[in-house]
Amino acid sequence: MKSIDTLGILIDDGYRLAIYCEDQNCRHWVWADLPALAERLGRDHGCLHDDLTPKLRCTKCGGRRIGIRLHPPHRPGTLWPR
Ligand SMILES: [Zn+2]
Repeated sequence: MKSIDTLGILIDDGYRLAIYCEDQNCRHWVWADLPALAERLGRDHGCLHDDLTPKLRCTKCGGRRIGIRLHPPHRPGTLWPR
């Protein structure tokens, strides 16, 4: 199993990335625009928390405490492994 560690792999495999603000009063979150991020940072840029969050800030409150959460691709018709 290959590791999921760059923006290019996320895009190719259909992953989605949620970016959320960790400010208790804000809680703003968005789906990451992965193609735009890859355009800006490069497809080989890491997609792990420490790679991305220093480059991001909340678009609502401007906060810099950002979290990310990776959502695996939804593949209709495939069964969960047992
Ligand atoms: Zn915020």
